[in-house]
Amino acid sequence: MVRSFTDAYALNELADSQQVFDISLKIKDFPRLTEAVEREMDALEPAERPPSWVDLPVSGKIGFGYADERSGSVSAELAVSAEVPVVCQRCLELFEFELETAAALLFAQDGADGDGVAVREGYESWELNDDRVRPAELVDEALVMAMPFAAKHQEDRCGASFAPDEEERNTTRPFADLKALMAGADKKRDPAE
Ligand SMILES: [Zn+2]
Repeated sequence: MVRSFTDAYALNELADSQQVFDISLKIKDFPRLTEAVEREMDALEPAERPPSWVDLPVSGKIGFGYADERSGSVSAELAVSAEVPVVCQRCLELFEFELETAAALLFAQDGADGDGVAVREGYESWELNDDRVRPAELVDEALVMAMPFAAKHQEDRCGASFAPDEEERNTTRPFADLKALMAGADKKRDPAE
């Protein structure tokens, strides 16, 4: 049976059939990811925004099964990657961030007695309101959680690596500090002249 990635299914149905979805989609197919990237783009002038970022690819897979047959606990493993445009919080320039996330989830139903799903090593517990799940929503949420909180270029690629507010720079660039100090001293002298 061909199942759609965006539909909701009973957990057991997906686990029984060991359902695997191959994902070859676009950012715009994931509403929450789109929203998160949009927030990044808000920091840019409209002309600076990459014109078709919503069409950038998202790829990977998510597969369902049972963590162990005896308990009947449904699990999912996912591995997804995307190239998302983000704004470097150091130099405020746009760059493409390699978003990658991989997880093994163990589903816990709200309202089930606490012993229903024991915490298992290697799995993240994932709460559901009922016994149905939308694979697309799971992946969307996993992608959003993997978004960088404050994206930054790697240091050697960042145009703002000489920014004076970078404290870690102070120790490696003593002369920059000295220069700043001297500039400050000059200013202080100014009123007296
Ligand atoms: Zn930067």
